[in-house]
Amino acid sequence: MKAIERVKNDLVIANRILAREEVADAYGHVSVRNPDNPHTFFIARSLAPELVTPEDIVELDLEGNPVGSDNRPLYLERFIHGGIYEGRRDVTAVVHAHAEDVLPFGIANGTQLRPVVHSGSFIGAHVPVWDIAERFGDTNLLVSNIAQGRDLAKTLAGNNVALMRGHGFAAASRSLIEVVRMSVYLPRNARALLSARLVGGDIKYLSEGEIAARNREAYSPYSTATWRAWEYWANKCGCGNLLTRPEATK
Ligand SMILES: [Zn+2]
Repeated sequence: MKAIERVKNDLVIANRILAREEVADAYGHVSVRNPDNPHTFFIARSLAPELVTPEDIVELDLEGNPVGSDNRPLYLERFIHGGIYEGRRDVTAVVHAHAEDVLPFGIANGTQLRPVVHSGSFIGAHVPVWDIAERFGDTNLLVSNIAQGRDLAKTLAGNNVALMRGHGFAAASRSLIEVVRMSVYLPRNARALLSARLVGGDIKYLSEGEIAARNREAYSPYSTATWRAWEYWANKCGCGNLLTRPEATK
């Protein structure tokens, strides 16, 4: 199987996992940079992630324009992806979604979303909040042009996740597997933190050393530990037949 085909199959799996794990519903999207051309990326046409098949994948340039003659309707917020790929050469995959459990942390100024559980370590020590109103005033809150996408990417900077005030989040990583894993655990970490606040008392976050220790362990994209989650989620959402595992990297 060619690398491009494998990447497109992985992108279908990623879409279906995000739907099945309730990170995305009718809205939200995931993309992957073209392995053969860093100036374009693959993403589904405007379609709910639950319904995406390989035929629904389109190729866009970093300003959100389709490559070639594909004229099917596109996601309005595709500029999130282009803006991040343009600003972050290390990023290979991006997710944008509106998972409800993360929303309070983009709205309430006083409480930062940070890792509190081991699987939340993937989101990184710092999760900035992007407020579209700061630069663009009263909008419909959607990232609907490349200037807004670039502004979001600026707030994301070198972090893994940025919250979007009153809207959702954007997550970026070096592989599809990692960005999906991070996007699944992001709302779970947020739920644990919200519950802890209800229980009361001081919140104990993961320390920077603990986060670094997690990232040093065997959590590379195709490690046995990472693959275990991807394989599980892919089968759970009915995509086990699309799985291809490159050589394990430990
Ligand atoms: Zn959105």
